Amino acid sequence: MIPFSPPHIDDEIVNEVVAALRSGWITTGPRTKLFEQKIAEYCGVPHVLCVNSASSGLELMLRWFGIGPGDEVIVPAYTYTATAEVVVHCGAKPVLVDVNPDFLISVESICKALSPKTKVIMPVDIAGMPCDYEAIMALVNEAEVKKCFKPANEIQKQLGRPLVLSDAAHSLGAWYKGKHTGAVADITVFSFHAVKNLTTAEGGAICLALPDTFDAEAIYKYLNTFSLHGQSKDALAKTQVGNWRYDVYECGYKCNMTDVAAAMGLVELARYDAMILKRRKEIFDAYTNAFGSDDRFQIPEYETADKTSSYHVYALRIKNVSEAQRDAIMQRIFEQEVSVNVHFIPLPMLTAYKNMGYNIADYPVSYDNYSREISLPVYYDLTDEQVRQVIEAVKNSLYS
Ligand SMILES: *Cc1c(COP(=O)(O)O)cnc(C)c1O
Repeated sequence: MIPFSPPHIDDEIVNEVVAALRSGWITTGPRTKLFEQKIAEYCGVPHVLCVNSASSGLELMLRWFGIGPGDEVIVPAYTYTATAEVVVHCGAKPVLVDVNPDFLISVESICKALSPKTKVIMPVDIAGMPCDYEAIMALVNEAEVKKCFKPANEIQKQLGRPLVLSDAAHSLGAWYKGKHTGAVADITVFSFHAVKNLTTAEGGAICLALPDTFDAEAIYKYLNTFSLHGQSKDALAKTQVGNWRYDVYECGYKCNMTDVAAAMGLVELARYDAMILKRRKEIFDAYTNAFGSDDRFQIPEYETADKTSSYHVYALRIKNVSEAQRDAIMQRIFEQEVSVNVHFIPLPMLTAYKNMGYNIADYPVSYDNYSREISLPVYYDLTDEQVRQVIEAVKNSLYS
């Protein structure tokens, strides 16, 4: 069976993890801080905080911005539940909007969904392709939108407009108009979950690229504390002789990254472009060569004049099929020993969101994208021969 996306774990990673385990320091410490610096350099931003997942990173930032009951956060209907879930955890309302045929949040839909309660917009770089950030930033900076914005605290007053918080769980290493993701939205959060391009088993990173009026260094320090119980000293600082007394500034969260996880991340980031992205692009190109010339298929965009994907998900669509026909095609692909997937079932189709009153009929593009989508295996260890098997299996599975 060809799996969907196993992680690539080799001796280099194992040796670094063992080195971390033997170093005498396994939780947040020197490796995590170095990993933060390396991500910051890679993305071209001054400040990055590592956390234990993208979900906790997104929630931490919503809490930092003061999101709570009565607030609205605009989220695409076509995403993983994590994006909207964190809004619910804060007691605010996720306002789901439709996407474009390219799977990415529709700026026109954002515009229609804006209200005086809108505090945050959360674009999601589905499959690794950056959203249209220039248009989104232009929208939140429009005089009308700023006038409508009702700040409820000092941070919101300082920004003076809705925050653009990017869910970049898929898009580490992607480019948007000459910048890496991480440097484009106000705040960007990456995921290092086991199925993502770069993995620390579980993990995430928050990149700060707020307007210059913000003191990013001070925000970084605040978040560092806020992600560790709101305590004045972390465990490493407390190991210094005599340095035992601490204070708790506020009731914070507990979502720090461990040095064991950072050890994996450091190895992977150092070879990410040359090894991981290079191989993923080769696989994407092979699929595009095979399916692009066959008009039963709609191939995904992953390189345009303004954007380069991180090649996270190869979201193939079948033309002129119903959801049930797509499901049957997937079944026949599985029967040929190839694992495929769907990214994603739109949120309004899931029980929790139906119970909130969302109806998929209001999201026609999300439904159309979903109903014809099949995600193909893409991972470093997938061989050329296996890529050919996947292509064969997919082609054999269609109604002729
Ligand atoms: C994986 C994923 C997340 C959550 O990442 P975690 O690190 O597992 O919290 C969020 N959003 C999207 C779109 C994802 O695919």
